Formats: sequence, structure tokens, C-alpha cells
Amino acid sequence: MPELPEVETVRQGLSRWITGRRIRSVQVRHPRAVRRHVPGGAHFADVLAGRKVLDVCRRGKYLWLPLDSGDAVVGHLGMSGQLLLQPADAPDETHLRVRFRFDDDGAELRFVDQRTFGCLSVSEGGGMLPSEIAHIARDPLDPEFSDAEFVAALRRRRTEVKRALLDQSLISGVGNIYADEALWRAGLHGTRITDALTGPAAHRLLAQVRDVLGEAITAGGTSFDALYVDVNGESGYFDRSLNAYGREGQPCRRCGAPIRREAFMNRSSFSCPRCQPRPRTSGTGRRAG
Ligand SMILES: [Zn+2]
Repeated sequence: MPELPEVETVRQGLSRWITGRRIRSVQVRHPRAVRRHVPGGAHFADVLAGRKVLDVCRRGKYLWLPLDSGDAVVGHLGMSGQLLLQPADAPDETHLRVRFRFDDDGAELRFVDQRTFGCLSVSEGGGMLPSEIAHIARDPLDPEFSDAEFVAALRRRRTEVKRALLDQSLISGVGNIYADEALWRAGLHGTRITDALTGPAAHRLLAQVRDVLGEAITAGGTSFDALYVDVNGESGYFDRSLNAYGREGQPCRRCGAPIRREAFMNRSSFSCPRCQPRPRTSGTGRRAG
């Protein structure tokens, strides 16, 4: 599943390849891919024909393309979505859902999505910030993200720290993999209760989140899911440098203890039993010891 670094990698690639280009036509090949565009697929294609792409922006895991009409195309990759630049004569992908052709006859933009959890829509007047995603908090790589506000909000909550990192209304773009990696670096177990974290500990954790995300972007994103590739079809390779996620039973790179896996929110959490001890009491609503 694409997380922030993957989506940022896609954004950077798209920005380079489609900014300034004018859409000639759009073909919606599967209605589910535009299900959040309430007026329907034909309308989606109609309002985009002839529009110029001004930029490619991101908040959390959402992308949006401001257009010269003042509207924006909003996209979420879901579990398996890909935005690929392909030569016009390249064969259609099996799971091709939406095709954008440009009036320069250059490479097409293709939305390919096997599991169809991803979605594209047009946000009317959403060029600056689509209303559909305005409720999502900024991510820690956003220049306007406020560290002080985040730390204060985190410490006001009485919830598990990993749960807080995954809460898109508090901080966006941190998924399961990067939460585990940041917690490993910070030496915190994910069930630590946020209101028991000291201010310096919360700032350290935020710094680790930022470092992990930044390094993953530099590496081109993580690719656990073979379905994920960036706009040029290249897999990311950050997974080679993961310290916790997916390493059950392998030695901690800091202390040598075998990494443990625990169930968490229908998923798995990976942590070091020695570097990240469980709090003496855990669970929401109870103060950690
Ligand atoms: Zn360790």
C-alpha cells in the first residue's frame, strides 16, 4: 500500500512530466475509478478536456492537480493504484481505469488500479486546496507543519502513540511501515500513551518520523507490495534499510534481540522487545507507568 514517501515520489515524477501540459481527452474505463465524482464518468471526462495542468500537489496521501479552470483533479492511490506515464502506443494495462491524453501527443497519463480502492475526482474550485481533503492534517514534511502544535495536540490525547501517528487528522502521511520505523528509532513501544510522553520525547519522535519519511523519499519509496511502482515503473528500494517493519525474528540492528511482531488494529506492529519495552500498563484511557 503506498504511503507518503511513495506518493511523494509519484508527485515528483508527475510534476516533472505533466506540469504545463494540456489535456486533450480523458477516457474513463471503469466507473469505480471515479466513484467519488458524483456527476459521473462522462462529466469527469468532459470538464477535463482542454484544461491545462498547472502543478502537482500533495497532502498526506492525496494528490491534486490544479488546472487552469480553477478546478483540480484529486487522486488517491488506495491499496494498489498507480499513475503511469506511458507512450501512447504502449499496450493497455490489464487494470487500466482512466487514461489522459494530452494535446502534444506525448506520453499518456494512465491510472492503473488492480483492486480499485483508488479514486480520481474533479474538485470544483479546488485548485488551491480541494475541500475534499481540507480536513486532513499537514504532513511533517510540509513547510507549514507546526512542530509545537503537533506536540501539544499529541500530548493532549490519551491514546496509544502508534494510533496517534496513524490519525490523519493529527498528522498525515504516516502509515504502518513508517510508524514502526520511527518508533524503533525513538525507542518507544507503540502502545505508550501519548499524554505520558514528555515534550522532549514527543519532539524526538517527530524528528524520527521526519527522518524516516525523508530517507524513504530519497530512496524512492518502499515497495513491499509488488503492485507499487512509481510513475516511471521503477520499484522503490527503501525496504532494504528497514529496521523493524517486516523483520520478525531477525536481530535488532541496535541490540541484537529478535524483532517481535504483535497484532495492532487488524495489522501487525514490529518492534524490538529490548529497545522498545511495553509500557507497564497499556490501553487507552490508562496512564502509562
Ligand atoms: Zn533492540
